[in-house]
Amino acid sequence: MTEQNKQNVRRLPEWLKRRLGAGQTFTHTHHTLDTLGLETICTNANCPNRGECWSRGTATVLILGNICTRNCKFCSVGHGKPLPPDPTEPDRVATMSKEMKLKYLVITSVDRDDLDDGGAGHFRDVIQTSRDAVEGLEFELLVPDFRDCQDKALEILADALPFVFGHNVETVPALYKTARPGGVYERSLALLEKAKQKWPDIQTKSSLMLGLGETDEQLLDVLKDLRAIGCDRLALGQYLKPSKESLDVVEYITPEKFDWWDKQARALGFTWVQSSPFTRSSYHAEE
Ligand code: SF4
Repeated sequence: MTEQNKQNVRRLPEWLKRRLGAGQTFTHTHHTLDTLGLETICTNANCPNRGECWSRGTATVLILGNICTRNCKFCSVGHGKPLPPDPTEPDRVATMSKEMKLKYLVITSVDRDDLDDGGAGHFRDVIQTSRDAVEGLEFELLVPDFRDCQDKALEILADALPFVFGHNVETVPALYKTARPGGVYERSLALLEKAKQKWPDIQTKSSLMLGLGETDEQLLDVLKDLRAIGCDRLALGQYLKPSKESLDVVEYITPEKFDWWDKQARALGFTWVQSSPFTRSSYHAEE
């Protein structure tokens, strides 16, 4: 990065300044999650949208603990040796769904390479328990890449259909070594492709963070790869360094450029696109 670039990314552009959350709904969301002892990616990833989402009464629940078996350089979630899945978690998520009167629940997890099924069975249990508790509740999953057990994981998840099936490629393949050393781009594509082939009526979704140093050509290639495997939904947002140890931002992408990417993505055939500096995979997912 040039000295000029470094100075540019040190200053947060006006369009990236957000207010903190407040108000009755925000407090209720906070209280519900706290009382039930649930983790969210909103808090664990220091998401800048927490104020807005929690004030709207939505949150993305992080199941299977908050210790990840990978160590991605863009992510602030802790890593190490996780605890076994908590059998009380499905009930607690169901209670949360009821208390927050949810219509749409986004569920994600840390990577659980220590488990035979990558945590798929726990995802299934959480969905089924919440579905029993809240009539009409719809689901979106944001799953890990199920490194050595993709087929097994999809087999297990089939018992919990329907849901939007999300898995994030996160960045362009050229940046995997620096940003996502435990990931393999082709493996992520393979998971999305298998899900689409297995369940053609289910929407698949992926997200990328921009501003890590990717070029337009590299990003366009990823969008084409995603369309080639039938990926329906796309979310593009600005990478923001979530902790002191995380990768530096290389570039702040302007809102106009995000609008431009929105058009490119729709032209390629994505049927649902969110592209803005604050977009995250779960941002406005219910819309
Ligand atoms: S965008 Fe997703 S992770 Fe961020 S606060 Fe909203 S629901 Fe949570």
